[in-house]
Amino acid sequence: MKGPITIAGAGPAGSLLAIYLARQGHDVTVYESRPDLRRADIGAGRSINLALATRGIVPLVDVGVIEQVDEITIPMRGRMVHAVGDPAPELQPYGILEHEVIHSVSRSDLNAILLDAAESTGRVTIEFEKRLERVDYEESLLHFHDGSTAPFGMVFGADGANSPVRDSLIAKGACTYAPEPLGHDYKELTLPPATDGSHQLDPNALHIWPRGEFMLIALANPGGDFTVTLFAPTETFESLDSAESIRAYFQAEFAEFAVLMPGLVEQFTENPTGKLATVRASGWSFEDRAVLMGDAAHGVVPFHGQGMNAAMESVRALDRHIRASPDDLAAAFGNYEAERKPNTDAIADMAISNYIEMRASVVDPDYLAKRALALDLQQRHPAHLSPRYNMVMFSTMPYAEAMNRAARQAEIIAASIADTSVDVDALVTALHALPANDPLADPKALSTS
Ligand SMILES: Cc1cc2nc3c(=O)[nH]c(=O)nc-3n(C[C@H](O)[C@H](O)[C@H](O)COP(=O)(O)OP(=O)(O)OC[C@H]3O[C@@H](n4cnc5c(N)ncnc54)[C@H](O)[C@@H]3O)c2cc1C
Repeated sequence: MKGPITIAGAGPAGSLLAIYLARQGHDVTVYESRPDLRRADIGAGRSINLALATRGIVPLVDVGVIEQVDEITIPMRGRMVHAVGDPAPELQPYGILEHEVIHSVSRSDLNAILLDAAESTGRVTIEFEKRLERVDYEESLLHFHDGSTAPFGMVFGADGANSPVRDSLIAKGACTYAPEPLGHDYKELTLPPATDGSHQLDPNALHIWPRGEFMLIALANPGGDFTVTLFAPTETFESLDSAESIRAYFQAEFAEFAVLMPGLVEQFTENPTGKLATVRASGWSFEDRAVLMGDAAHGVVPFHGQGMNAAMESVRALDRHIRASPDDLAAAFGNYEAERKPNTDAIADMAISNYIEMRASVVDPDYLAKRALALDLQQRHPAHLSPRYNMVMFSTMPYAEAMNRAARQAEIIAASIADTSVDVDALVTALHALPANDPLADPKALSTS
């Protein structure tokens, strides 16, 4: 690999990649636009906590930080669905196996563990407050916002959804990309702990208040608070432009939540509104000089809780392809994209459809009957069937395969609900067996390094 080897962005993808490259024996410089999050509070405007699942856990096992991460996560065993006016919300468990849980984790605490681990290799230098502006391949120079430059041989683009490295590939004619805005925005609020410091809601569940076209969700933090996010059409946020309108909206739609929440109007007014979009870039690399990963290549809307998990899975795949073809990096990058692109396109689609599942279907009796049957079939035929959510969250099966299998399973389940004389067990066992270890294995057993 031509040096200097550089990474733009020290988010989850960039900091994880730095560790993998250091393990390959490379010296790496990472340029990050923000201040060091281990020393400054820079949380505002970004999602505060995230759901970590198998595809993210496996690389964390690989690079030896899972024990530290385990100390800062809160397991969520299912969805707690708060239907309108329901005084006794019900837990819909995610799965039937012990490890079929997702983990609430602070974005910045997880990132800090990865930054520390990268630096502790002795091969990684991280330069903060260095915003990359453009990449000059002819002069082999990275140009930063402060007017400074740095030489590079190889640049890895882990610089998020608005990636300047991606812009440089587009300028070279190597990459095409058109933004796909969702038309729905989000706003984060903090639900404080109860007066005794405990969580006001069950911390071991992902809470959802589904309301058809929009929803509120909440994930617990270790300090007793919850990060609560409203997802709704852009026009809804535009209409919530006064204390009265905000109060009336929450009173009408989320009355049980609003009573728990002091300072609701103040938080809603002060906190930024975030935009949501899908990134489906094509052409992730340029020769052996640059390659994209994470949100820069394949950003997804957050409704499957997979953006970061997919980013980390891509980094792991990239590490494998580089090790397989160290002397032909252009080929390694091409193979990496060929493997990942159909799968990241699939999770982009599944993330959008999961929005509808979360905001509407979870209270639909037809959906609930199908999900109950799917879980029952999983119990009866664990080698052949697992619900789509579980294949995405609790396995490393390629996303496109999970999507295709789920479509075939959905046909069988719909047929057996429509006609009870259908031999559903025979149809399920006629499906090809699930790959060995997937999706039933404990993620901590899936790391191979
Ligand atoms: C509301 C919300 C909820 C989410 N929930 C989940 C979830 O539950 N589970 C999940 O897996 N994913 C979730 N995601 C998605 C997840 O946040 C992203 O997919 C993940 O952060 C991608 O990691 P990344 O490293 O590719 O990009 P980023 O996290 O965006 O990191 C990019 C880094 O590059 C830096 N940077 C940007 N521009 C430059 C520049 N010009 N020069 C230098 N540095 C630069 C940034 O400061 C940042 O540190 C959620 C996203 C949102 C918006």
